[in-house]
Amino acid sequence: MYRTHTCGELNLSKIGAQVTLAGWVQTIRKFGAITFVDLRDRYGITQLLFNEELTLQLEKNSIGREFVLQATGIVKERSNKNLKIATGEIEISITNYSILNKSITPPFTIQDDTDGGDELRMKYRYLDLRRNEIKKNLELRYAVNRAARNYLHQQGFMDIETPFLIKSTPEGARDFVVPSRMNPGEFYALPQSPQSFKQLLMVSGYDRYYQIVKCFRDEDLRADRQPEFTQIDCEMAFVEQEDILQTFEGLVKNIFKEVNQIDYKEKVERISWDDAMWNYGNDKPDTRFELKVQNLKVKGENLCTTLEEIKFDVFNSAETVLAICIPNASEYSRKQTDELIEWVKRPQIGMRGLAFIKKGKDGILKSSFDKFINETQLNSFANYCNAQQDDLILILAGAEEKTRKAISDLRMEMAERLGLRNKNEFKLLWVFDFPLFEYNEEGNSWVARHHPFTAPKPSDIEIMINNDPKISNASKYLDHPYAKIKANAYDMVLNGNEIGGGSIRIHQRELQEKMFAALGMDIEEQLHKFGFLLGAFEYGAPPHGGIAFGFDRLCAILGGSESIRDFIAFPKNNAGRDVMLDAPATIDEKQLHELQIKLGSKKV
Ligand code: ASP
Repeated sequence: MYRTHTCGELNLSKIGAQVTLAGWVQTIRKFGAITFVDLRDRYGITQLLFNEELTLQLEKNSIGREFVLQATGIVKERSNKNLKIATGEIEISITNYSILNKSITPPFTIQDDTDGGDELRMKYRYLDLRRNEIKKNLELRYAVNRAARNYLHQQGFMDIETPFLIKSTPEGARDFVVPSRMNPGEFYALPQSPQSFKQLLMVSGYDRYYQIVKCFRDEDLRADRQPEFTQIDCEMAFVEQEDILQTFEGLVKNIFKEVNQIDYKEKVERISWDDAMWNYGNDKPDTRFELKVQNLKVKGENLCTTLEEIKFDVFNSAETVLAICIPNASEYSRKQTDELIEWVKRPQIGMRGLAFIKKGKDGILKSSFDKFINETQLNSFANYCNAQQDDLILILAGAEEKTRKAISDLRMEMAERLGLRNKNEFKLLWVFDFPLFEYNEEGNSWVARHHPFTAPKPSDIEIMINNDPKISNASKYLDHPYAKIKANAYDMVLNGNEIGGGSIRIHQRELQEKMFAALGMDIEEQLHKFGFLLGAFEYGAPPHGGIAFGFDRLCAILGGSESIRDFIAFPKNNAGRDVMLDAPATIDEKQLHELQIKLGSKKV
């Protein structure tokens, strides 16, 4: 037996007991002729005391950090207690020990405050994983996994595995492909999600399916994405949108309860996509705070009539003018407003400037465009924005989409500065009634906003059936009936992050064919890519729908972190590389030959 106890469990109740521990040397402190060693394992740290004779031995053996020791001794009360750790009131007076393995000096210190940079820690991830902080993250991840499984099991869901070597499932990204040696010249695709399989399982009668499953998407890795990531993937048959919302609110609430000990009693708010865009400029708004967007002019139409009276080119020439009122900020200095102007001009935001009005504590209004506006106009402008005393009204003007995104970014930035984004507070929101289609300028065509299996809202099915998807006038695509069709889809948002999304699916062959056709697929292409699904829909496919949660992101948010990488044992870097394995890597000629693959000249 290597050990009688772990390094995290001994306390005063075990005084006098003989114990054996095994673990890694965290620190060695020589104290005159004796030595203290902190021994670490997954469960904690225990102080070992080596007497004079054993200290000489330790020195002879050149014991250092990260050596693996097995040590036997007697539990003693410590004179110098450390009440911050569970084992801090005792130490083990060692009688004999052995070295189970040596360690060379690690490239960074294995402690909470490490001196290792990101790249180095990723290269030696197996050492990084010894650190408490990462260990806590993985423990949290496992707790979320358990809470999800417990809930779904209780609700009658069945975990069914689906294959990884498949044919493309479109989720809007590129596929990773795998060449088939047995079928030369042919390739599998790795699943972007198990979408088609979970729908087929509904056809097969497994009416409540789930899986905590890897998905693979070959996309440019913008901030904090991973080419392989994990979803809690779910599907149900004989359900309507309401059933799904109820069931999965329950899932997330159960996770809050089991993982964060939070009893989320509030009703989960719901907002339509239109309202989210209107009020927050964003379809995944953070609703922990208000700071709602004021729509002064939208797509060329002045909603605030004062804009018609003032001759201020910035507003007059803009397609859209939006504002937000920041409380307790009317005393912002010139320097502070200049800094905000620079902030909106940054390339990521891309605005040409920022106008503002201050409504002082005394109610007096002052604006950055006083030259162009009289007192009465300024008053009605501020009233339209619903400005309160001591508010700073920030106003952006420009093209619709860009301005809406910018006001949303500014809203988040100001909330951060005002300390309104408390990471210990959780606020859930359902967003629904998304547009079914998005316009694709390049092909003057429609693309599915979610994925092509999403059903239109029942009331909009007719519009889809009765209209030709062809867009004859590109500049007027918004007038096309398809632009108005809403999807029977929903996203779950937590603190401004989309943590899950799903939809009620199409389950009739004709409607699915119509959908594929709207996306520009002729019948041959449809049969080639999705013949199996169209076929399955002819054998009694039940009405069904589902959702998938981004498991990594959910863990990161629950753990109060911005980075999903901290919650993945072996993540990839921003270039999609595993720097520990040094993957991806070239393969040898023989393998290429077997796969009948010839490489072109390398791109530089
Ligand atoms: N398969 C979808 C996704 O990965 C989720 C769903 O519709 O259930 O986004």
